[in-house]
Amino acid sequence: MPPLDVSLLHAGWCTHPEFSVMRGGRFSARKFPAMVAVLRHPDRGLILVDTGYTPRFHTLTHRLPWSLYAWLTPVFIAPGDTAAATLRAGGIDPAAVGMIIVTHFHADHIGGLRDFPEARFIWLEEAYAAVKSLRPRAALLAGFLAGFVPDDFEKRSTAVATEQLAPLAELDFLFSGVDILGDGSLMLVALPGHAAGHAGLLFTDQAGRRIFLTIDAVWLKRSLDENRPPHPIARLLMHDARAFRDTFEKLRRLQASHPEITYVVTHCEESHRVLPRFGALR
Ligand SMILES: [Zn+2]
Repeated sequence: MPPLDVSLLHAGWCTHPEFSVMRGGRFSARKFPAMVAVLRHPDRGLILVDTGYTPRFHTLTHRLPWSLYAWLTPVFIAPGDTAAATLRAGGIDPAAVGMIIVTHFHADHIGGLRDFPEARFIWLEEAYAAVKSLRPRAALLAGFLAGFVPDDFEKRSTAVATEQLAPLAELDFLFSGVDILGDGSLMLVALPGHAAGHAGLLFTDQAGRRIFLTIDAVWLKRSLDENRPPHPIARLLMHDARAFRDTFEKLRRLQASHPEITYVVTHCEESHRVLPRFGALR
């Protein structure tokens, strides 16, 4: 079970009122970065977890009904801040990325898929099945912009079937997952609720810590630490509010019994500080 070198980069950000993502939060809008994890496996090379925003978001949401998405979620991304541009600035050709794990199909996770021509894509079967054939209105409600998906996406993809998931003893059997590289180094963990087929990742980092990327199961780590789930209004944007709440409760139980695990949340800048920023590693 080799450890993985991990660093994080931010590919744009959006704003939301804090209260909508955490009970008792402020009414004022705050910035939520779109995190991309850059993993380096000793044999499998470079692996990305998600791809952040790209300026394509603005092109794809230029007209109605898509402009409602941009209105509801104001997005800020400069061409030089995309995952591909940041990797290039750090001396990495985006074509060297061999694998991208797509945790779910929201714009801030699939925005950069087209920038990685050689990558294979891994995702939970349910995640793409739920969005790929949606008509515009339903796609909008699911937060899915089909224009982000490369034309040869399915040809370059490996879908993980639900039957491949098994309860993980390490996580007290609270969550199910699958060993995606076959050597125990990277577990894809189902975290139902936020979006169809929403998943997190569990691995050991270069410092020997168990890292659990919980992606969008919560938006601020404090919300988990202080038991402050999102405002009911956030249910409007959830795939399955009951499953979201169930996942939230299970994460709380896991955190109580496994404080040794480091929990990292996609949109929570505070939680990112425990890991190096991309560029600081080499
Ligand atoms: Zn999301």
